[in-house]
Amino acid sequence: MTALSMAGAVHAGPVLVIHGGAGVIKRDMSPAREKAVRAALTQALQAGYAQLKSGKAAIDAVSAAIVLLEDDPNFNAGKGAVFTHDGKNELDAAIMDGFTLRAGSVAGLHRVKNPILLARAVMEKSEHVMLVGEGAEAFAKEVGIALVDPGYFRTEERWQQLQKALKEDRMRKPHADEETAKHFGTVGAVALDVAGHLAAGTSTGGITDKRYGRVGDSPIIGAGTYADSGCAVSGTGWGEYYIRTVAAHEICMRVTQMRVPLDRAAAEVINQEIPSMGGNGGAIALDADGHIAMPFNTDGMYRGWIGADGVPHVALYGDEDDGTGEPLPSASDE
Ligand code: ASP
Repeated sequence: MTALSMAGAVHAGPVLVIHGGAGVIKRDMSPAREKAVRAALTQALQAGYAQLKSGKAAIDAVSAAIVLLEDDPNFNAGKGAVFTHDGKNELDAAIMDGFTLRAGSVAGLHRVKNPILLARAVMEKSEHVMLVGEGAEAFAKEVGIALVDPGYFRTEERWQQLQKALKEDRMRKPHADEETAKHFGTVGAVALDVAGHLAAGTSTGGITDKRYGRVGDSPIIGAGTYADSGCAVSGTGWGEYYIRTVAAHEICMRVTQMRVPLDRAAAEVINQEIPSMGGNGGAIALDADGHIAMPFNTDGMYRGWIGADGVPHVALYGDEDDGTGEPLPSASDE
């Protein structure tokens, strides 16, 4: 098992950390695919960082980064989402502002182009925290969030993943441990803005071959997404285990309330508690001092971060240096 958990520190200035899903990432992934994934992660970091650099709030950086990843078919969120057992794309997302503890979340969407924008609208424009299915889409229409034909989300690759999973179902193989289900591909972001406020967001198509109506951890505040004044977390992995361990809140509770160092808290939950119950996955976490943790117990995790010097760092594989071992530059080093 790969169990990476590294930490660095910024003394001031904005930080953005993103993920594009944990899971099996084959070394023989085509060079073109690898290049596209690295480019997409880099662009998402730059887009989010531009918001932070211009003095915008952490929540703006989180939404900006996630929108780009949702629009990119290489990730299991927005376009390129995985298929349910009955051949549909069903999308979930959540966003949380650590400064105000306001949150918005959506689940079971079929027609919302950017679920993270709808989650944010639920937070900012409704009196609720969570809206699902048709009610969520009716609200999207009301507040002017773009709706698309459900066919927009379809990619051939995801369709073939479903066909493989269905075949395994027929052969009664538990495909949750097979490669089709192991690359989770959800996207997420956590950010620290110049005012010292944190935010977190996550967007996903869920898990290949999931049942119609299944909701994972990503839109459950405290499970796959959480932020408070001291910590922000976005998870990716086998969602049922993240819900049962209330993973994101558990990490933040240890950091903010119990003063456990971020990398230790994140590693305890992601690399000890979740695997000890039979689950797997990873997470990105950030604290109010700019420490970063990106633990995962799978072979790899698409991940990246950008600190006060504005240089994006991206890594995909488990044994790849993601630069978090080095102390991060402070804003005053610029
Ligand atoms: N955590 C997501 C879910 O269970 C899947 C993922 O991370 O890709 O819905």
